[in-house]
Amino acid sequence: MPNTDSILRIALQKSGRLSEDSFRLFKECGIKFESGTGKLKTSSSNFPAEFLFLRDDDIPGYVEDGVADIGIVGENVFIESNRKAETTYRLGFSKCRLSIAVPRGVEYKGIDDFQGKSIATSYPRILSNFLKEQNVKADIHEISGSVEIAPSIGLAEGVCDIVSSGSTLLSNGLKEVEVIFRSEAILIANKKLSKAKHDTLNKLLFRIKAVQTAQN
Ligand code: ATP
Ligand code: ZN
Repeated sequence: MPNTDSILRIALQKSGRLSEDSFRLFKECGIKFESGTGKLKTSSSNFPAEFLFLRDDDIPGYVEDGVADIGIVGENVFIESNRKAETTYRLGFSKCRLSIAVPRGVEYKGIDDFQGKSIATSYPRILSNFLKEQNVKADIHEISGSVEIAPSIGLAEGVCDIVSSGSTLLSNGLKEVEVIFRSEAILIANKKLSKAKHDTLNKLLFRIKAVQTAQN
């Protein structure tokens, strides 16, 4: 049995666009654990790690507070959360971008078109930083889902949302006009890990790098 001080608590998305690749990563690292049994917490049988299965939005806060020692989350969600943690490793999967889109029929000349207009998004912090950098004053309508519907119901002139293939935009009559952020899955760690946990994290990172080198 490993020394319990060295057991790393790892927060992963329970089910969603990060889960499959996160689970696969540990499998490829030779770290065994049960997933998909409905349990929200499980231990590895061959590595000093405990896994927590959570909603992705909760992962940055859990890592900041030390409820989890490390976690895998989309960089978009981490930045938007404004939580404090170390970005330890970029994992290269769950790639997507955060983009502004407008109705297809609109002639778009540039970001200045949004002066005095409104944009619906679930990413108010990242969007507002971008607009500030561009010196654009626009209203941000924060909505938690189905952002793409906003222009057609008159809620906003544009939307800012996650895009991977662009098919959701297309089927809602929108076109992508600005990419404001590029995201991938990242491994974040609590800022005050004990020496013992840090050693475990280094062992994990060593395996992750070996797996990724072998694949490239
Ligand atoms: P949860 O139920 O855990 O809150 P969710 O619905 O908020 O899940 P997912 O749709 O599973 O989240 O997306 C998780 C992350 O995967 C996103 O934050 C983003 O980093 C990444 N991602 C990659 N491709 C896409 C995509 N096409 N759409 C949405 N997110 C994507
Ligand atoms: Zn989520």
